[in-house]
Amino acid sequence: MNAPILEVWNLCAFYGRAQVLFDLTFRLQAGEVMALVGRNGAGKTTTLKAIMGLVSASARQATFKGHSLGRLPTYKIARLGLGYVPEDRRIFTDLTVEENLETGRRPAPAGRSPWTPERLFRLFPNLAEMRGRRGSQMSGGEQQMLAIARTLMGNPDAILLDEPSEGIAPVIVQMMAEAIRAMKAEGVAVLLSEQNWAFAAGISDRACVIERGEIRFQGSMAELMANEALRADTLGV
Ligand code: ATP
Repeated sequence: MNAPILEVWNLCAFYGRAQVLFDLTFRLQAGEVMALVGRNGAGKTTTLKAIMGLVSASARQATFKGHSLGRLPTYKIARLGLGYVPEDRRIFTDLTVEENLETGRRPAPAGRSPWTPERLFRLFPNLAEMRGRRGSQMSGGEQQMLAIARTLMGNPDAILLDEPSEGIAPVIVQMMAEAIRAMKAEGVAVLLSEQNWAFAAGISDRACVIERGEIRFQGSMAELMANEALRADTLGV
């Protein structure tokens, strides 16, 4: 088994006085895709935000590539090589696809070939066809792809993706699945928060099921696929 790239212990988070995450402990292995699945409101988004230091009332011990994340600010966590693509796809709508990609450019670690727009256009062929288009003229799914591609321009070792398939057309969901497989093949680990079970099941090596802020299952996707009772109970699928 690969070494863990991201390790999180006893992650707790609160909104006001309401506790929404309870002692989540999990690992993301280098180069794997792990799905964080659970019903609406289970705590998936909060988990990703808390890892990135975006939930003020949270407590966790976490390491990324062996560095303690402690109370590091989000930008420093990103600079360690942990990318994050939030649900609301923050692309610049007044910039073109190519200009958006440039805003994400950061040097690659020594010994690794950097992501370039041309490499990314091979991964996301539909973006290549609209390289001069402004963000405001793109569909939600195309914007989502651009948000992921822009994050890759920072040469991360791992990416946290929050519901990339939400609200996008099935044909784009299919392209997204292929892009995530290709990212994995390039060695980028992915922690994927998803409500779309078929999408998550098709691309993930392992899964972590969250229910009301607690981990109900952690294991291989094959194990979760085989456990119909657990899926029906926690995911309704
Ligand atoms: P979704 O798929 O709907 O985003 P989720 O599994 O990602 O669901 P979270 O968004 O992490 O779940 O929400 C976990 C819990 O925290 C829910 O009960 C939600 O209502 C609550 N919550 C989320 N954001 C806030 C907030 N800013 N203030 C108060 N409560 C919040």
